[in-house]
Amino acid sequence: VEAAAVARWQGPGQTADGHRVDVLANVQDGLGARAAAATAAQGVGLFRTELCFLDRDTEPTVADQADIYGEVLAAFPSSKVVVRTLDAGSDKPLRFANHPDEANPALGIRGVRIALQDSGILDRQLDAIAAAATTAGASPWVMAPMISTPAEAEWFAAKVRERGLVPGVMIEVPAAALLAEKILAHVDFLSVGTNDLAQYTMAADRMSSELSSFTDPWQPAVLHLLARTAKAGADRNKPVGVCGEAAADPLLACVLVGLGVTSLSCAAAAVGAVGAKLGTVTLDDCQRAAAAVLETADPMAARAAATAILG
Ligand code: PEP
Ligand code: MG
Repeated sequence: VEAAAVARWQGPGQTADGHRVDVLANVQDGLGARAAAATAAQGVGLFRTELCFLDRDTEPTVADQADIYGEVLAAFPSSKVVVRTLDAGSDKPLRFANHPDEANPALGIRGVRIALQDSGILDRQLDAIAAAATTAGASPWVMAPMISTPAEAEWFAAKVRERGLVPGVMIEVPAAALLAEKILAHVDFLSVGTNDLAQYTMAADRMSSELSSFTDPWQPAVLHLLARTAKAGADRNKPVGVCGEAAADPLLACVLVGLGVTSLSCAAAAVGAVGAKLGTVTLDDCQRAAAAVLETADPMAARAAATAILG
């Protein structure tokens, strides 16, 4: 897609034949949300709340948290905003939440697992999100990171619903992708985090540049798990988004749409390129590319198969 077309893209996200797909931004604070609101992003598909607190020694109060979350909600009034609860641990350590001294932090007590051990931090964060929502007159969606079982999804959803918010979970562990159907019995939406899904599917550290060919989001094994997750959503008529790096690659974004994904969330800087590319292809092209990619055995072949159909 030409630079001029990218700059011109105004949204809403849709294929050339009018199949709608929300193109959303990933943000980490009010400043980032206001910058994202200046693009054609239709909302926020991933608000990484833990990144607001990387410099804190102690847990922010509910009032402090509510102010920070409120800034993001205020940047997108009457738009979809998906708030992720704290994803502490491993590559995003928080001093006030982390589980100390683990031999293997990526496979340890991270994300929602911290809350399962001690739910206080999560309860207070959900109170803060609910307070911010009331102040802003917004109804944000709220999702948990690092869910691996349907029971965890059920536990989390109850807490979110209790506060009048809309519950969902991230699919970033292969076990969760394989049981997406059962997880969807408990929550209203799913969002696939392809960065971690690739890490755990391929058994390759996402932070290691030496292993980047394994964690390539075009890995067919990762795309098969994604296809299964999207199908579970389609069967239950519930939204399934992608908020990992995969959604920032315009060609792969079209393949994801072909797999049945209903929204794409990426860095604000990539929103125009993704939206513009999507506008040049039909849903049928996307579906044919998705089917072709699932037949391949490696990322290079997957890219080639998609390029042959989508350009
Ligand atoms: C992901 O894992 O793909 C994701 C979106 O979450 P994060 O990158 O913050 O772990
Ligand atoms: Mg993740």
